[in-house]
Amino acid sequence: MKTALVTGGAGFIGSHLCELLLGKGYKVIAMDNLVTGGLKNIEHMRGNSNFTYIHHDVSKHIAVNGEVDYVLHFASPASPADYQKIPIQTLKVGSLGTHNTLGLALAKKAKYMLASTSEVYGDPLVNPQPESYWGNVNPIGVRGCYDEAKRFSEALAMAYHRIHGLDTKIVRIFNTYGPRMRKDDGRVVPNFITQALNGKPITVYGDGAQTRSFCYVTDLIDGIYRLMISGLNEPVNLGNPEEHTILEFAELIKALTKSSSKIIFKPLPKDDPHVRCPDIAKAKKELKWQPKIGLREGLAETIEFFKK
Ligand code: UDP
Repeated sequence: MKTALVTGGAGFIGSHLCELLLGKGYKVIAMDNLVTGGLKNIEHMRGNSNFTYIHHDVSKHIAVNGEVDYVLHFASPASPADYQKIPIQTLKVGSLGTHNTLGLALAKKAKYMLASTSEVYGDPLVNPQPESYWGNVNPIGVRGCYDEAKRFSEALAMAYHRIHGLDTKIVRIFNTYGPRMRKDDGRVVPNFITQALNGKPITVYGDGAQTRSFCYVTDLIDGIYRLMISGLNEPVNLGNPEEHTILEFAELIKALTKSSSKIIFKPLPKDDPHVRCPDIAKAKKELKWQPKIGLREGLAETIEFFKK
């Protein structure tokens, strides 16, 4: 039986990953400090004898007893509202946390996966974004704490790969949604759904012409697992390439929730990327992966989750 350590295991994506790994017969250690994650996300796994939860801040030294075959570093705030509230912790988990988890993987002779992000492309001047694009990031802007932490973490993972021969993988995760997102995390999916369900105004930032592409969480996790067991070491984009404007997205949520909410416009936050869409040719070719869940279907599930 293989053991996988998932940092951020009580988070939105981390908890779904733990669940998939348990289902595939792995022993899973979820590590989290619950800054943005929550025990509610993992309570259904805690009775499973193959599942262990460790409360720990991975920006501090990590000690784990026994064998570890995979270290999957998914700990980090990921919502712009969250990371702009705690930029120093965000920089630490991306830098020190990545260093500690890489060191642990090296000591345990484990394979390693880094959860990176489409934010490494910043406000991209190329659309869609292929992995070969170096990005357009404002290092000192309000998103710099997340973008640069992730860019540093990618550089560190590649250095461990080149210098120590560590088997590292880097997944660049594009906008992902689904059950277990926090309804108050400030991102567009929970905001629009809770606003629409409560008859409150749907807050479109800017003129709503900016674009995003939304991937349902189970599709993402399937891609992550394929990458984890692959021989790839260079970054791979995972996301849904169907691109929508935020205004279209607001109208879709309003329709799917049959809401009478008004759509209102608020100022566009600083450095908000104008476009974002993954080029997934590499994942298609190398991992035989592409998303299967359409936006309406995934949103229907997510709306049910938020209703409860
Ligand atoms: N957004 C919006 N209204 C909201 C929340 C977000 O119009 O209540 C916009 C935001 O400005 C951005 C997009 O939706 O253009 C996606 O924002 P999110 O915070 O989900 O994450 P991002 O993709 O920017 O990291």
